[in-house]
Amino acid sequence: MFKKILIANRGEIALRIQRACREMGVKAVMVYSEADRDAKYVKLADEAVCIGPASSTHSYLNMPAIISAAEVTDAEAIHPGYGFLSENADFAERVENSGFVFIGPTAASIRLMGDKVSAKQAMIRAGVPTVPGSEGALNDDPATIKRTAKAVGYPVIIKAAGGGGGRGMRVVHTEAALLHAVQTTKAEAGTAFGNPEVYMEKYLQNPRHVEVQIIADTFKNAVYLGERDCSMQRRHQKVIEEAPAPGIPRRLIEKIGERCVAACKKIGYRGAGTFEFLYENGEFYFIEMNTRVQVEHPVTELVTGIDIVRAQIEVAAGQKLAFTQKQVEIRGHAIECRINAEDPFKFFPSPGRITGWHTAGGPGVRVDSHAYHNYTVPSNYDSMIGKLIVHGDTREQALARMRSALSEMVVEGIKTNIPLHRELMVDAKFIAGGTNIHYLESWLEQHPR
Ligand code: ADP
Repeated sequence: MFKKILIANRGEIALRIQRACREMGVKAVMVYSEADRDAKYVKLADEAVCIGPASSTHSYLNMPAIISAAEVTDAEAIHPGYGFLSENADFAERVENSGFVFIGPTAASIRLMGDKVSAKQAMIRAGVPTVPGSEGALNDDPATIKRTAKAVGYPVIIKAAGGGGGRGMRVVHTEAALLHAVQTTKAEAGTAFGNPEVYMEKYLQNPRHVEVQIIADTFKNAVYLGERDCSMQRRHQKVIEEAPAPGIPRRLIEKIGERCVAACKKIGYRGAGTFEFLYENGEFYFIEMNTRVQVEHPVTELVTGIDIVRAQIEVAAGQKLAFTQKQVEIRGHAIECRINAEDPFKFFPSPGRITGWHTAGGPGVRVDSHAYHNYTVPSNYDSMIGKLIVHGDTREQALARMRSALSEMVVEGIKTNIPLHRELMVDAKFIAGGTNIHYLESWLEQHPR
């Protein structure tokens, strides 16, 4: 096992990884920007290194600064968390070329999966079902683009090969709007992701977002840890996640889980990863793979009892997976609410000082947050300040626990989306389970403030 790991991230996931390190007896080095200097996890770290100013371009995305921090502190491995450099193949490569272990897949796997076009082609080759669409990236020929859309069938969605975070997508309903949409998405993708390539998919009208968590070691062992339903989204961004996905027959989950495991073996994948699917009319359609730990990993941890961050570190250290597929058992139900520093119904960010902070507790309640009384939420980063996660024997019990936990949460001084979560947890359709990816946005339209 490593003696010392550098955590190249911030916020709740930095704290989550630090907790795993502490439990494993591994020293954790934190890197931080000037905006995060006072964060409690920075103070609690075995060692901490300032890597630059608030702007993430100059700190959390600053590869030389992070690698130097690992050098001066004698860390052996770097955990990238999620976001920032976690899916940057060049970073993974530079980390390994500098003599450190990258806690994640190989640069080649990240590169293959980071380009959604090549990822989709790899999945087709591995026998994983994908959303019908263009064969590879779209070229510049208007007639071909029109022909492709006609064959796929309207509505279609134009997606950036390098897209992420719910950005770089455009839905097209008619041929008249097609070419302009392709041009605009290309231009935006070029600026935002440095890759103008776009592709086309059928725009599914009524799907759910269901994803499969996998973990693989370097001995060709790969295991799926069940699925998560992340259909409660706003602007293609997840707001609530749960495991298991309500109402999907286990045999379908097993079938798709086995496909994912086979695909991992085929591409020589190592580490944790998530295969994201749209699920409609009993069928799964692959949309993308995330080659890192995800925000919503705790719901899987609560239903499987497996510590995913620990497993990531173990396989990166060259250990065999500590469990087999047969030993993975799904027990009960877990739900996660992302707590964002934002107006609950208008969604503008609400950074600032937290003047009051009381979190929930009790059986089956977990709070993953770096926030505390008098903590100042910086305006420079994502608005998520924590996650409230509950587990129950049944979905009903998990819902009841989430309602109770949300009623205990007190956050003063800034606005959060806790009031929105409170309303959603008593919504009849959400309680019934199985709402689709458009449900939250239509609910918001029907509940104007
Ligand atoms: P990102 O990498 O930006 O998260 P994804 O490809 O994972 O992009 O898609 C994010 C979300 O966008 C999905 O969860 C879904 O809500 C929506 N979406 C993506 N592709 C389609 C599609 N073909 N049909 C309908 N919705 C889609």
